[in-house]
Amino acid sequence: MKTALVLGAGGFIGSHMVKRLRADGYWVRGVDLKYPEFSETEANEFVCMDLTDREVMRRVIRYGGERGNFYRSIVDKFLEPFDEIYQFAADMGGAGFIFTGDNDADIMRNSASINLNLLDEQRKFNEDKETNHTKIFYSSSACMYPEHNQLDPYNPDCSEDSAYPANPDSEYGWEKLFSERLYLSYHRNYDMPIRIARYHNIFGPESTYEGGREKAPAAICRKVINSETCNDTIEIWGDGQQTRSFLYIDECIEATRRLMESDFMGPVNIGSEEMVSINKLVDIVEAIEEKDLYRQYIEGPLGVRGRNSNNDLIREKLGWDYEMTLEEGIKKTYDWIRWQISKQIYSEV
Ligand code: NAD
Repeated sequence: MKTALVLGAGGFIGSHMVKRLRADGYWVRGVDLKYPEFSETEANEFVCMDLTDREVMRRVIRYGGERGNFYRSIVDKFLEPFDEIYQFAADMGGAGFIFTGDNDADIMRNSASINLNLLDEQRKFNEDKETNHTKIFYSSSACMYPEHNQLDPYNPDCSEDSAYPANPDSEYGWEKLFSERLYLSYHRNYDMPIRIARYHNIFGPESTYEGGREKAPAAICRKVINSETCNDTIEIWGDGQQTRSFLYIDECIEATRRLMESDFMGPVNIGSEEMVSINKLVDIVEAIEEKDLYRQYIEGPLGVRGRNSNNDLIREKLGWDYEMTLEEGIKKTYDWIRWQISKQIYSEV
């Protein structure tokens, strides 16, 4: 049986990846500061610990097999490296969390520490075991692309080779860029097998939809669902003409698994090329309930003016492309958020 370690397994993408790996027959250890919020984890073992602690990282990358679990100490010679590691752990959120500047130091320190700990502890373990077979996936982000190529909302350039000269518009993006280079360095100098994807706005059921870390699709669904309590008014940050593309979670997981199984290392975009303005995204959500809300444009953190995935490279290397339309994905997400909100209301009555 193949084994996988999923870091950030209590988060949105990590918890979906755990389900997929279990369905594919893997033995899975998940690690996170918290358990998944919206459903039970399907990991064989779930460790609630802080990955910025190097000793925690040293221990979680060692698999004890049938002899024991993370919490029972096992003689070192019986511990084995995992076949695959998926690194999703990061301080993450929508524009309201990563573009305000208020969280920059935490975002950079936390995420960089996890990546440094992982690569160096795995390198040492590989040396002890005289093996180097663990494939490591790193979830980078489209936020690492330079701001100057994303000023025109209708013609942004996010092809992989446009990354340099670097000029991300946020510290979150700079940390992703640094960590991409870190993974590439460990591959270059220690021959460690790595895979890097640059995700473009992943959305779907079981993602955060309130509390300040939610991203645009979930935030807009929530606002439309709750619009009756806001005089049928929806607040939109900026003029709503900024553009983005959004990829449904199942498609992201499929593309990531294909990347891991291929010989291609990346970095490669994983996203949708169906670019829409935020106003259009609101139209799509409103259409589900045939609502026509009054739009109030307010100041808020915006990020770049335009962004779209460019899938030329992933089509060429992996033969992968997204299939689901934005309308289909939004409908599934909307229904799930409406169900969550109705459960909340019901439990308060
Ligand atoms: P998420 O916030 O839902 O998941 C990240 C998880 O990491 C959280 O559960 C968090 O508790 C955990 N974590 C943070 N610090 C930790 C620590 N010190 N120790 C242990 N766990 C820790 O985010 P997500 O949307 O699932 O994103 C997963 C990865 O994909 C992140 O690296 C993110 O930057 C990247 N990414 C996501 C998107 C997207 O649209 N969701 C886009 C681009 C890149």
